[in-house]
Parts: sequence; structure tokens; C-alpha cells
Amino acid sequence: MYQINDNYQKLPGSYLFSTIAKKVAAFTEANPDKSVIRLGIGDVTQPIAPAIIQALHKAVDEMADAASFHGYAPDLGHEFLRHAIAENDYKKRGCSISEDEIFVSDGAKSDSGNIQELFDVNCKIAVTDPVYPVYVDSNVMAGRCGVYDSDSQTWSNVIYMPCTRENHFIPEFPKETPDIIYLCIPNNPTGTTIPKTKLQEWVDYANEKGAVIIYDAAYEAYITQEDVAHSIYECMGADRCAIEIRSFSKNAGFTGVRLGFTVVPKVLTCNGVSLHAMWARRHGTKYNGAPYIIQRAGEAVYSEAGQAQLKEQVAYYMKNASVIKEGLSAAGYEVYGGVNAPYIWLKTPGQMSSWEFFDELLEEANVVGTPGSGFGPSGEGYFRLTAFGSYENTVAALERIRNL
Ligand SMILES: *Cc1c(COP(=O)(O)O)cnc(C)c1O
Repeated sequence: MYQINDNYQKLPGSYLFSTIAKKVAAFTEANPDKSVIRLGIGDVTQPIAPAIIQALHKAVDEMADAASFHGYAPDLGHEFLRHAIAENDYKKRGCSISEDEIFVSDGAKSDSGNIQELFDVNCKIAVTDPVYPVYVDSNVMAGRCGVYDSDSQTWSNVIYMPCTRENHFIPEFPKETPDIIYLCIPNNPTGTTIPKTKLQEWVDYANEKGAVIIYDAAYEAYITQEDVAHSIYECMGADRCAIEIRSFSKNAGFTGVRLGFTVVPKVLTCNGVSLHAMWARRHGTKYNGAPYIIQRAGEAVYSEAGQAQLKEQVAYYMKNASVIKEGLSAAGYEVYGGVNAPYIWLKTPGQMSSWEFFDELLEEANVVGTPGSGFGPSGEGYFRLTAFGSYENTVAALERIRNL
């Protein structure tokens, strides 16, 4: 008789968003006259920019004609898109990443979940705490995390690097040496970043210890401060220790369109084995490419009109971020993030737990956010609000919070 992959049974249920949904549903049922504003979502709300829509329409029409029809894309993705990425995301920032080191995909979630396949089951991962759940859960499925302890909400075989106000949300080198280090900068959920000099220290550390860094730069477009790197390859030696994952979801509203890419430099090797060759093999075997139409839409992200429109879109969300940040600060809250990311991470007032604050905010202000404890034990006592709502709703929500 067959057996299942028992590692799936180890996963604790993801109660965070279902518990939120249940609580909100119960509240709205009991209070049908109250309008609830949701600032908990991690999804964009603005429509796809006109330059991209235009590219989509054009690509759809091409598919209707045998002369311009496109079937399977090349394994790494269409050259026109990889060229635009290499030029705009890397060459312009002084990073020597070539087109054939870029692997186009359907998004950063799949890549950040799949990348662990390249590594031995005995490799030990290190994650920041709080953290985007995909990194840990995908390693649990692969049998790399040991056993879960529900009291401490940690896995026995995972190295946690707490990121709290005490260390300014900058992860410290762990006592135990990790093999695989996940970094997400700008960070979801905390909305914070680390200076480029600190990132360089992490790159040096990884090279010295023989560790690999999985660098999730999904929020790169939101960086406003000069001293924050847009790519890990801005750091010396990063091409020998880092894989970078990017997404078109947050910079261009592609959450429902699906496009991303992963950079695996050719000089990145482990005991003489090329990780680029491994990822190419994996990509060619298990993935048949993002749709041609969507890759054309991705190309339009880098067009002059696309860039201008997206700059406005990001600015729209960042205006919301400053409304939240300034509104909360004025109301006496301790707030972090919101400068280089569309997330605001606030310290709950007094000794309130994340969930206690969630309940108060829902019941008294009719505003929904996300309890920080849902992202890891060090998120306890914090709370996430997102800038992805409409400006009007964001202003209204802050008005309510200030009147609490
Ligand atoms: C939203 C998000 C992603 C994006 O994933 P896609 O699959 O490209 O939509 C990746 N990483 C983090 C940390 C995110 O918040």
C-alpha cells in the first residue's frame, strides 16, 4: 500500500487568515450597520497600468494569427523579457547579471517554495522571525525542519533570527551556523529594511561559512532610501552565495496575472557543482514557462510609459503608508516600516497581545489588520497594517483609530 509524504502531516494548520476571516464574519453578522475597513490584505487593489494592458491586448491578438502565434517559451523565459530585466533591474544598478542567469517564472511564491529542492535534506535553514510563511512550510514539506512545538511555535531544526524593535529589525548572525539563509528585504511583514552595509556583512558571512542566501526582493520597487540595496548583487561577492527572487506582483499589480523570476548566477557553485545548471534542469523538467502574453506584459513594465505609470501606482500605495504611519504616530503608537515597504508594523499598546489588539481594533474601530504573532513568535505584541487599500479607506480607517 502506498504511503503519503508524512511531512505534510507535521504542518500546523494555517489558522491566521481563516481565523481573521471567521472573526470578521462574526462581527459583521452581529453588527450589520457597521462598515468594516480591511487593512489586513497583502494583495494589491489598483488596476493594471494602461501601458501593460495595451501590451496584453497586443499579445492576445498575436496569438490569433499563425504568423505571430507563440507556443512553448524557451526554458529560461523569452529573451525579450530576460533582456529587459537584465538591463533595467541589474545593469542600471551596476550588477553584472546576464540574461542567461535569469529564470522567468509564474511568481515569487512558487520559486521561493521550490528553490529548497536544490539542497540536501540535512541542510539547516535560518529564517527571520517574524517571517513570510512559505520559506519554512516548503522546507517542512521536504522534511528539513524536524518537529513542531506548538508552545514555542517553532520547529526543532530551524534557526530563528528574531527581528524586533530591540535589534531594529536587523537579523543577527545566529549562534549555530546555518546552511540556507532566507532574507526578505524590504520585509514582509515588518515593512523594515537593513542598510546595504549590513547586507554586505550577511554576504560576507555566507561566503565565509559556506552558506547560501535565498534573497526575496518582492518589495524592491518600494525602496525610497538611498542606503538600501535594490538587489543583493549590489553587494560584493553576492554572486558566489546568493539566489535572488523577484516578483511582478507588488510593483506592477500582477498578483492575478502571475509573473516573477529568479536569478541564479553562474559562479554560484557548491563543491564544484553549478546551482545554475541544477535550477535550469529543474526548470526544464518541472516547468513549461510563464504564458507568452504575460511575458509581454512583463516587458511593458520596463517600457518608458510602464515605468512612469508604475511609479505613480507605487506612490499611491506609499501615500497610504505615510497616512497610516503618521496617523498612528500622532495617536501615540510606536510604528515601524512604511518607508521602503507598503507595510506598517506597530507595537501593540500596553501589554496587549497581537490578537487582543486585533479584537479591539475590529470591535471599536471596525478596522481589520493582521496580528503579528501569526508570522512567528517574535511577532507577538506587534500588528501589521497594509497600504494596499484605497486612499479614502485608509484615511477613514486612521480617523477611526485615532478616535479610539
Ligand atoms: C507577495 C509576496 C511574494 C509574491 O509572490 P508572487 O507569487 O510573485 O505573487 C513573494 N514573497 C513575499 C515576501 C511576498 O510578500
